[in-house]
Amino acid sequence: MKIGLFGGSFDPVHLGHLLVAQAAVEELGLDKLFFIPAAQSPFKPDSKPAPAFERLRLLRLALAGKTNCEIDAQEIQRGGISYTVDTLRDYARKFPGANFFWLIGTDHVAKLNEWREPDELAKLAEFVVIPRPGEAPSDFPAPFRGRALRGFPLAVSSLVIRARLKAGLPIEPLVPSVVAEAIRNNRLYL
Ligand code: ATP
Repeated sequence: MKIGLFGGSFDPVHLGHLLVAQAAVEELGLDKLFFIPAAQSPFKPDSKPAPAFERLRLLRLALAGKTNCEIDAQEIQRGGISYTVDTLRDYARKFPGANFFWLIGTDHVAKLNEWREPDELAKLAEFVVIPRPGEAPSDFPAPFRGRALRGFPLAVSSLVIRARLKAGLPIEPLVPSVVAEAIRNNRLYL
């Protein structure tokens, strides 16, 4: 059993995330991919993401009908700062014998040793990146196992989406129409 795990703020979810997910499912041959929105990223201590229920709502809309993708709200339910090692331990308990692939952005690769309990993390999962356009995949530091996928590189981030909303610019098709509509209806990121 091959399980992909995609952690992040998803503030909001966008086409870059969806393309990363599709490439991971296809290129790794995943049985299932879990989107795991963080309550609070340890690397963004000063950022105040949109409320968890709003980020979850947008994820549900973006993933409707994608049968190989699921949303796991465990980090939100735990609350506080979200540490990947806690989440991976939970998966190792729930799916004994499975192979886990944790998806990250290339900017995280060089700093993996700063994550909590790096030795344990390296044992629990292989790390996977899909470089954005112009990003060179860097080597994974010991003791981590990792690989880069080809994917469908797209230079979009949640930061770009939030900035476009503040500037009154359109965000479609960088996010699915249903997500754009929910963002507008709920007056998020203004
Ligand atoms: P922000 O702009 O707010 O920092 P983000 O778009 O990077 O957010 P996250 O929710 O933090 O979004 O993303 C989760 C993970 O997905 C991160 O590891 C991030 O690097 C990766 N990611 C996001 N967008 C892309 C993309 N277009 N291509 C490849 N990886 C991406």
